[in-house]
Amino acid sequence: MDILTNIESIRADFPILTQTVHNRPLVYLDNAATTQKPWSVIKKIEEGYTQQNANVHRGVHFLSQMATEAHEAARATVQQFLGAAHAHEIIFTRGTTESINLVAHSFGETFLQTGDEIIVSEMEHHSNIVPWQLLQQRKGIVIKVIPFNEQGELDLEALASLFTDRTKLLAVTHVSNVLGTVNPVKDIIAMAHVRQVPVLIDGAQSVPHIAVNVQDLDADFYVFSGHKIYGPTGIGVLYGKEKWLNAMVPYQGGGEMIAQVSFEKTTFNELPYKFEAGTPDFIGSTALAEAIRYVQNIGMDQIAAYETYLLNYATDKLQQLGDVRFFGTSLHKSAVISMQVGNIHHYDMGTLLDKLGIALRTGHHCAQPIMKHYGIEGTLRASFALYNTTAEIDALVAGIARVKQLF
Ligand code: PLP
Repeated sequence: MDILTNIESIRADFPILTQTVHNRPLVYLDNAATTQKPWSVIKKIEEGYTQQNANVHRGVHFLSQMATEAHEAARATVQQFLGAAHAHEIIFTRGTTESINLVAHSFGETFLQTGDEIIVSEMEHHSNIVPWQLLQQRKGIVIKVIPFNEQGELDLEALASLFTDRTKLLAVTHVSNVLGTVNPVKDIIAMAHVRQVPVLIDGAQSVPHIAVNVQDLDADFYVFSGHKIYGPTGIGVLYGKEKWLNAMVPYQGGGEMIAQVSFEKTTFNELPYKFEAGTPDFIGSTALAEAIRYVQNIGMDQIAAYETYLLNYATDKLQQLGDVRFFGTSLHKSAVISMQVGNIHHYDMGTLLDKLGIALRTGHHCAQPIMKHYGIEGTLRASFALYNTTAEIDALVAGIARVKQLF
């Protein structure tokens, strides 16, 4: 679907967008933090609770079977969306953060010994740093860091020099939530695989914006959050290759993840249930599948093209304003703009823009190593989604110009 010619009907799918904030039309440009939800997703949640709410996998009764079928159909939708080989390679989690913690725990406990090394990058979100540091405290592993250059691009020569025969995993983001850089993850994965090192890709900022195929990338693990792709909060995905997931110890213990329990010996369930202890968010999973259908109906390539158009439009307009410093100027960029305007503190800018109804994010964006790289405390970040318009970008630019005048 061509987004530009259908933008009004697309916007009408998102009820929150008609809101006013401080008596101004809402201009929502905080999509990297979370996205708004279309009616189809909201209605799916309502339908879940009003028509098929029953616990999954346990009941012989009608509602339970319906809920189970919907939950498993959602898993198949995610499998097809990511291009995974098997539905049982899709594990439902609470989100990207939980997915990475799961791998850090289960892969770490299974395969890592004191002195083993993992590689992450300098542009990771804290959720792809701290779980590894917790593992470091438990196991005495070594964490190595791929640096990035002034444009915000990973230094692949430096990466090549980080591998040793103790390297056990590489964990890197597909798209930076601050710099917008789209990392060449296919090449990075190939570099790691030559050295028999598996790779985890943080897809929190890629899956909503570009087409992803985990088999084509040959990713060993790929993770994302539902709420960043127009789905509900509290649901996310861990894709893992069967061979790794089968070999890894469980993450949490409880119902659903077991085959047989006795006080003498407990055996674990098969995939994917081994990693889904307790009642899963079966309403969230079906609503996430609805969100996926929503973006698929529009088309991931159309979304990527439209958001690139918004990125270029916004970058040009902001450049014309003058006195704007951009953080992240890679040629391969997703629709995220991190900036500093003159000497105006990002909190002041964010607060005054909010008074004009414009929602942006300010601060370190859970990526303090990026701030350290540039020697700054934080940035002002605008991040775009498929429902944003050039008129909203004009409102942003006019708002920034107005705040500049005030200072
Ligand atoms: N990774 C990246 C690149 C992100 O942008 C985010 C959220 O902003 C996360 C991980 C964490 O996602 P969540 O809070 O949904 O677990």
